[in-house]
Amino acid sequence: MAKILVDKERCKGCKMCIVICPKKVLALSTELNPAGSRYAIQVEEKECIGCRLCGMICPDSAVSIYAERRINLPRSQT
Ligand code: SF4
Ligand code: SF4
Repeated sequence: MAKILVDKERCKGCKMCIVICPKKVLALSTELNPAGSRYAIQVEEKECIGCRLCGMICPDSAVSIYAERRINLPRSQT
């Protein structure tokens, strides 16, 4: 599970992130940004696998990905 935040002022609604997302958890908003474009939003947080493809493909660097990482720490030797 990962949270995707799109900078709606940067996003021009090209849909590249939406098309590339393997889990299809992104969509265009119904609202417009100040430039008059619909912008990408995450519609299903639980299904997002945090693969970061959306962030890599965005030509406007408008996508930030916040993925939880599980770290396995060694058990203490007590
Ligand atoms: S991180 Fe991967 S699964 Fe999550 S929204 Fe982006 S492309 Fe889709
Ligand atoms: S790839 Fe970037 S500019 Fe295009 S819709 Fe997604 S967030 Fe917006």
